[in-house]
Amino acid sequence: MKNGLLQSLQQLVLQSRCAMCQRLSFGLICPDCRRQLETCQLAIPLAFVDMLPLLAWGHYQGPLKQLLGRLKYDQQAQVARLLGQLLGVTWLETQSHHRQPIVVPIPLHKVRQRERGYNQSALIANSFCQFTGLNVMLNGLVRVRATAAQFSLSPQDRLTNVSEAFRVGPELAQKSRGSKIVLLDDIYTTGATINSAVETLSQAGFQVVEIVVVAKA
Ligand SMILES: [Zn+2]
Repeated sequence: MKNGLLQSLQQLVLQSRCAMCQRLSFGLICPDCRRQLETCQLAIPLAFVDMLPLLAWGHYQGPLKQLLGRLKYDQQAQVARLLGQLLGVTWLETQSHHRQPIVVPIPLHKVRQRERGYNQSALIANSFCQFTGLNVMLNGLVRVRATAAQFSLSPQDRLTNVSEAFRVGPELAQKSRGSKIVLLDDIYTTGATINSAVETLSQAGFQVVEIVVVAKA
């Protein structure tokens, strides 16, 4: 019995492969890939956009871009856990002592979420909040209409594509006005999506105190 268990454990360990290079690895990613991933980490993670703090773990390039791509295939839960933890470490190092903000991930539209089966930002938000101890509200924001895939649009169309794309979810609507919100997304590119979410929340009386993203383009 004991030997059987040991064998199963050994098989489990030996079967795990690096999420980036697919070589056999003891952890989610192998030491080589870990080192490469760390080259993407920003030296100064905190910036400001329109007076709002924007915290990003890394540059959207090379290994980090590859790992975020992996979120869309298999191993998504494990990759999200790792990314949420990396982001959590950075957040704890730079936090400006907001009292109990609610973490709200940027939602996917229902149709796209059904196609993919999950919202990668929600998975990262869960891990981030487990690590930091913050409260998460996965359905704090709801998409109100599908948006065409951003990459297929010109920069100008990207801006209009996401306008009025969100509404406050029923659970968040019950929270007191003035509640502090941290918005979380996987990638920050033009900022159009985030701006639209900030506007929706502000109009409903909530205070967005920070934006946190895994990667900044
Ligand atoms: Zn590797």
